[in-house]
Amino acid sequence: MAAKTDQFQSPDYYLLDELLTEEQKLIRHSVRSYVKKEISPIIEDYAQRAEFPIQIVKQLGDLGCYGPTIPVQYGGGGLDYISYGLMMQELERGDSGIRSAASVQGSLVMYPIYAYGSEEQKNKYLPKLASGEWLGCFGLTEPDHGSNPSGMLTKLTDAGDHYILNGAKMWISNAPFAHVAIVWAKNDSGEIVGVIVERGMKGFSTPTIHGKWSLRASATGELVFDNVVIPKENVLPNIKGLKGPLGCLSKARYGIAWGALGAAMDCYDTALRYSQERMQFDRPIGGFQLQQKKLAEMITEITKAQLLVWRLGVLMNEGKATAQQISMAKRNSCEIATNIARDARQILGGMGITGEYSVMRHMMNLESVITYEGTHDIHLLITGMDITGFNAFK
Ligand SMILES: Cc1cc2nc3c(=O)[nH]c(=O)nc-3n(C[C@H](O)[C@H](O)[C@H](O)COP(=O)(O)OP(=O)(O)OC[C@H]3O[C@@H](n4cnc5c(N)ncnc54)[C@H](O)[C@@H]3O)c2cc1C
Repeated sequence: MAAKTDQFQSPDYYLLDELLTEEQKLIRHSVRSYVKKEISPIIEDYAQRAEFPIQIVKQLGDLGCYGPTIPVQYGGGGLDYISYGLMMQELERGDSGIRSAASVQGSLVMYPIYAYGSEEQKNKYLPKLASGEWLGCFGLTEPDHGSNPSGMLTKLTDAGDHYILNGAKMWISNAPFAHVAIVWAKNDSGEIVGVIVERGMKGFSTPTIHGKWSLRASATGELVFDNVVIPKENVLPNIKGLKGPLGCLSKARYGIAWGALGAAMDCYDTALRYSQERMQFDRPIGGFQLQQKKLAEMITEITKAQLLVWRLGVLMNEGKATAQQISMAKRNSCEIATNIARDARQILGGMGITGEYSVMRHMMNLESVITYEGTHDIHLLITGMDITGFNAFK
C-alpha cells in the first residue's frame, strides 16, 4: 500500500529551536530529508510485509547515525548528545523500527565495544559498524529473564585456551541479519561478562521471530548458542557485572526518549492536518471541541517532553545525567507517544486504521518501544526507588 507524500512539519510550540545550535539544526535537517526521501515512501510496504528494509543499514552508516557520540578515530561522529537525540527523533518520526536498528548498532553494540573493549576490538569492529558494512545486535533478554536480566542462564565456560558459550537469547533486534552480537553471559564465577559473537561461529544461529504486530519493519530474532567456541580475545575485558549491559541501556534509552517523541510528533502533525481538512457536519472536524481537546493535549505533552529531553541532552553533554533521569525521560516519551498515537488514530476515524497514514503503524510500534529497554512499570520502579530509597523490584 503506497504511503501519502510526507508533509511532516515539526511542532515547536515553545520556540525550542532557539535552544539548538546551527550544527544541531543542520544534522536534524539532513536526517529529516533522508527520512522523507528514503523511508517515508517505502516504510508502509515493508511494515505490511513484515520485512526489514536491509538497504537502510548502509544508508544510516553513510548518514552518520551509528554511534554519533563515539570519537571520529573509531568511525563515530564525535558529536554531542543533543545531535544524537535529534537524529533518533527524526528516524523514529519515520518508523520506530528504523530508529531501533540505529539505536542497537550505536548504543548497544558500538558503545560497549568502545567503552569496555580492548584497543584491538575497537579497531577491528567499530569502523565496520560505523559505516554500516556490518550490522550488530545486543543479546541480554532470555526466554525466562526479561525485566530481571540478572537471572540469566546463558553460560560462558572457560575451556583453557578458549571459552564455550551455551544458552539462548530472545527478542533480539537486528539478530536475523547481524554480523556480530554483543552477548551477555555468566562466567564460571557467576559474573556477567560481555562476549563478541560473530556470525559463522559453529553452533551459533539466529532464528527469526515471526508474527509480530509491532515493529514489523524491524528484524527480531533469537540467538541460540550450542557449544559455541569463543576465542579468549572476544570477551570484553574492561567490564564485569550487570552494570555492563545497564551502561549500554542508558545510552539507548536516552535515544529512545528522543525517538518516541519523534513518533508522537508525526502522529500529532498528521492528526492536526487531517482535522483541518476532513469535513463532517459541514465543517472541518478540527472545529469541534472534542477534537481540539485531543490536539491541545497532544501539543502540550509534546512540548513538555521536548523540554525534558533537551534538558537531559544538556546534562548528558555535561556528563551529569543519571541513569534514573534517563529512565524517566524514556518512560515519559513512550507513554505520551503511545497515548498521542491512540488519540491521533481516533481523529483519523476509519482512515486511521489503514496504511494510508503513518499513525496506526506508529501506534503498534510504540507498544514495543514502551516495552523494550525496560517496561513502563520497571521505569516507574526505578524512579520510585530513586526518590524513596526503597527497592520495590522484589
Ligand atoms: C520488538 C522487541 C525488540 C526487542 N529487542 C531486544 C534486543 O535487541 N535485545 C534484548 O536484549 N532485548 C530486546 N527486547 C526484550 C525486551 O527488553 C523485553 O521484552 C523487556 O525487557 C521485558 O521483558 P519480558 O518481555 O520478559 O517481560 P517480563 O519481564 O516477563 O514482564 C512482564 C510484565 O511484568 C511486569 N513486571 C516484571 N517485573 C516486575 C516487577 N518487579 N514489578 C512490577 N511489574 C513487573 C513488566 O512490567 C511487564 O508488564 C525486545 C523486545 C521486543 C518486544
